Amino acid sequence: MLCLIVRKTRLGGEYLKNMTIDELRLLVDNSVDCIWLFDLKSMRFKYVSPSVYDLRGVTPDEALMESLENALTPESLEIINNISNTLMPRFLEGDRTIFTTASTYEFSQYHKNGSIVEVEISIKILENKETGFIDVLGVSRNISERKKLEALLNYEIMGKNEVIAKLESSEKELENLTQQLKNQNHILSGMIGMDQLTRINNRYYFDRRIIEEAERSDRYKVPLSLILIDLDNFKRVNDQWGHHKGDEVLKKTAALIKGKIRCADIFARWGGEEFAILMPHTSIDGAKLLAEKLRLTLAEYSHPDAGCVSASFGVGERLWGEKPKLLFKRVDKALYHAKKQGRNRVILSEESISPFASMHIDWKSEWVSGNLIIDSQHKEMIEMTNQLIYIAMTEIKTENFTSKLYQFLDHASKHFNEELEIIKQTGFKDTWRHEIEHEKIMEKALRLKDSLLADEVKPSVFFSFVVDELVAGHILKEDMLFYPYL
Ligand code: GH3
Ligand code: MG
Ligand code: MG
Repeated sequence: MLCLIVRKTRLGGEYLKNMTIDELRLLVDNSVDCIWLFDLKSMRFKYVSPSVYDLRGVTPDEALMESLENALTPESLEIINNISNTLMPRFLEGDRTIFTTASTYEFSQYHKNGSIVEVEISIKILENKETGFIDVLGVSRNISERKKLEALLNYEIMGKNEVIAKLESSEKELENLTQQLKNQNHILSGMIGMDQLTRINNRYYFDRRIIEEAERSDRYKVPLSLILIDLDNFKRVNDQWGHHKGDEVLKKTAALIKGKIRCADIFARWGGEEFAILMPHTSIDGAKLLAEKLRLTLAEYSHPDAGCVSASFGVGERLWGEKPKLLFKRVDKALYHAKKQGRNRVILSEESISPFASMHIDWKSEWVSGNLIIDSQHKEMIEMTNQLIYIAMTEIKTENFTSKLYQFLDHASKHFNEELEIIKQTGFKDTWRHEIEHEKIMEKALRLKDSLLADEVKPSVFFSFVVDELVAGHILKEDMLFYPYL
């Protein structure tokens, strides 16, 4: 048997060939791995090295007596049977290659104490000249520890994989949640009316406010004006400097406009590079002044890289009861004309021209009475009227406007009294009638002043009275009657 080992084993090489039987036995008997020879014909072990005791708790003699059923678990026994069933026919058919290959298998064997020992077996097939059959030479190594470690490792890997899978799914969940939150934020900021890029109001907010302001304008009979702004040749900015720079221009434009308008004005990003301003309590003239101021501001500002980016403006005052949609259409048409006429300009919607926009009184030489006091007071009254009209265009019913209005009425009242004193001394016979005229005018002026401040009349009504009756009307008609007496 040992001769066979020496002859056939590859590991032996030249050194083993020259060893004596005793030397080889020394090696085999003291090998830590169990070396054995199995006779496939009798299905019995022919040799088992002493280390079988360490491996399975049986002595070599006990192992030689043992049947395979007692030594192997049923699963391992089946593997042996399969090996035998494939090798035997090949051997009988004269296939000699079975002797040249070595194979390794893993088996589970019984230990004498009842436990299972995991074993790795390397085998080589040898020809048994005596029986004319084959023997199996094998080396069995205890791999229970390795198996245990492998199982532990697998268990740990499985656990870690589970944790990774959980992490991955929570990451996905987190990603989904973040996306959902982003979407909700977007919707919410839309609902609360904020434009994400410029941080000013958005169209949604503007649409809502214009309806409210239109109702208020109708109810209190106060003017409401709209400005639409479209940046000129903005595509070029994007094309030349990129979308990012374009965005910066939009942000800065919004900030520049915001810095020039009043708190009460409603300012929004209407579209890509379009903005809208809604101005409660402001007539077309005030809106025009603001639009012009904004046009200059934008045209003169030089953006980093992009340089100056001008804008075109459409301006309109809402007509009594006009639907916001129609107001937009009109103002958009004005904006279109501003573009058509060469851009960087303000165009008013024709229907919005204010009834008192043209109200400006110029002092006329025919109005000179010859009395220095009366003439200077008349001139001052005309100047104050012009100022009041101008203020009313931009800041109707502000503190400034109200105080100027009271100053004007005080001046008119003082003038009427002083004028009366002067004409009484001239011998003008209709002084009493003139006095009644003064009283009537002042009474009406005070009444209209109250109505104006209470939003019961439009500014145009008040100023028509001031121009037609108080200033020009009275000076032209009534005062001229006593001029010859001065
Ligand atoms: P016009 O003077 O006739 O208004 O010329 P325009 O180039 O401004 O023409 P138009 O109004 O048709 O083009 C507007 C451009 O604004 C097209 C679009 O790419 C750009 N735009 C719209 N929204 C944004 C935005 O949020 N960021 C940037 N960077 N560009 C925008
Ligand atoms: Mg546009
Ligand atoms: Mg444009």
